[in-house]
Amino acid sequence: MQRKKLVVGNWKMNGSKALVQSLVQELLALGPWPSDIAICPPAIYLGQCEQMLAQSDLAWGAQDVSAREGSGAFTGELSANMLKEFGCRYVIVGHSERRSYHGESDQLVAAKALVALAQGLVPIVCVGETRAEREAGQTQAVVERQLGAVIDALGQRISEVVVAYEPVWAIGTGLTASPEEAQAVHAKLRSQLQAASVAAGQVRILYGGSVKAENATELFAQADIDGGLIGGAALKAKDFDAICRA
Ligand code: PEP
Repeated sequence: MQRKKLVVGNWKMNGSKALVQSLVQELLALGPWPSDIAICPPAIYLGQCEQMLAQSDLAWGAQDVSAREGSGAFTGELSANMLKEFGCRYVIVGHSERRSYHGESDQLVAAKALVALAQGLVPIVCVGETRAEREAGQTQAVVERQLGAVIDALGQRISEVVVAYEPVWAIGTGLTASPEEAQAVHAKLRSQLQAASVAAGQVRILYGGSVKAENATELFAQADIDGGLIGGAALKAKDFDAICRA
């Protein structure tokens, strides 16, 4: 099945009003792109992005969402309907930095994906093994468990998410899984999705972990790599643009 490539920039906790203004302006001048493109700035800048991007084909999304539905006494949380109100198309759930620094469990990540989907957002579900897990030969078991929790929560609707395979040892380290290593994991994730949903062929599985213009073309040429989730390189318009064209 032909899947349109998707490249998503995860800005993490970087930026300022001035940086959003200049980076978004630069990106708008560099587009359009042959793939679907989205940026995920810190949530406080989503309104600014909405104003700047409303008339463009550059989408935007959030880096996290509350697992709670509706509204209520949940200090510091942002609900899926709030993100939707600011025009978000996507929301990243289960990024390894949330799993490790905030103790997010597979079940919490699955609950976030479910609530996001219910509000019309596309969850970008991150999975990936640590270096120790890879060295212990547990890569497949770890990503299967992480994705399995989301499949259990979503059932057939798993076909509506985006999956991002991000080996933790490759995030922000300059180390990248080789195209073959990444493809092997993506192919297994695809089989797991296929066992869960008849529409699994449409799910885009992104690769993330030190993607740069120099390695993107080879990674994105793999059969089951449908684009990338980009951290550091998403903060420089020219670098991000080059990846979006890879
Ligand atoms: C990420 O945080 O999702 C990521 C892939 O970061 P980097 O591209 O900087 O490795």
